[in-house]
Amino acid sequence: MADVREMSVEELAAIMEELGEPKFRAKQLHEWLHKHNVTDYDRMTNLSKALRQKLADRLPLQGAEAVTQERSQDGTRKYLLKLEDDTCVETVGMPIAFDDAAENVKRLTACVSSQAGCPMACSFCATGHEGFGRNLTASEIVDQVLTVQEDFNERVANVVIMGQGEPFLNYDNVLAALRRINTDSGLGIGARKITISTCGIIDGIKRFSEEPEQFRLAVSLHAARQKIRDQLVPKCANQPLDDLQEALISYNQQSGRRVTLEYMLIDGVNDSDADMDALAAFCEGINCHVNLIPLNQIASSDLRPSSKAVTKRWVQGLSAVMIPVSVRNSRGFDINGACGQLKEVSLTHL
Ligand code: SAH
Repeated sequence: MADVREMSVEELAAIMEELGEPKFRAKQLHEWLHKHNVTDYDRMTNLSKALRQKLADRLPLQGAEAVTQERSQDGTRKYLLKLEDDTCVETVGMPIAFDDAAENVKRLTACVSSQAGCPMACSFCATGHEGFGRNLTASEIVDQVLTVQEDFNERVANVVIMGQGEPFLNYDNVLAALRRINTDSGLGIGARKITISTCGIIDGIKRFSEEPEQFRLAVSLHAARQKIRDQLVPKCANQPLDDLQEALISYNQQSGRRVTLEYMLIDGVNDSDADMDALAAFCEGINCHVNLIPLNQIASSDLRPSSKAVTKRWVQGLSAVMIPVSVRNSRGFDINGACGQLKEVSLTHL
């Protein structure tokens, strides 16, 4: 059945016409759905009772439901959301401290899934080990931000599409969701506060380069030597590093924006000096910032994080060749809510 929240104002206007209502009702309905995020027709008080009933019969309305919630010692909360067809996805809310003009403020970040499960099967990631479920709709993506916002009773300041799934394999729905999250007639979160993370789907990067909004891009690189990358991110073996590098340079030029390269340090796998040199060579010509990520160990893989000493050496080595670098402070490890720990959970496991 058609999802009313996926319909444009024009499509809603056609339905209003069929129901014998004036067209402007479509705009009112659209505002309730996307500006006020109402998931119950009875709260749409400027529509008549009769119309609300007709709409409820014709276009049933349902939001995502958080069926469980876990809280980390660091303030992070992880939600398991049940969707209309009982598919489940995980979403994470993180109050993160930012240094803002010498002031230490906490801002709420929502880490959002773009697919149920993931087809990429990366060796280090719990989501990939569970296989692929389905693409999420734009509404299902927006609902995740709303869930975090409502549960913390606080405005979400940053959105990262870094939960389950590969966003560029669900490009249209993800972009539609980002627009609703961004627009003033939606959640009104600034484009620069919204980041998509991809494992490196080149066609997606090319399309994304042409989008007019200032959304940010992060690429999960994890290795700058082809052979090692093919082991870690096997489904990207057909997306060669040379082509990826070229696409990122074009991205810089077309969008005028810097890209973040995420690089997870894995003990004895991708953390040698030769790996660092390869990364430095990859970065050449790209306006980028490298975000080193300590590997979070997951039960289904025996990969181990690099030592603190190695991480420090990488920070120093990359800084020495003028590559901006930082180390990600992963959150919510104690509730399996950290990077790479999100799993596809079906209700029968609860
Ligand atoms: N598919 C997209 C979106 C997922 S983002 C992507 O690959 O970017 C999730 C981030 O967590 C990615 O940077 C991913 O590489 C990283 N990640 C996955 N497993 C991890 C693990 N075990 N430890 C730390 N980071 C991990």
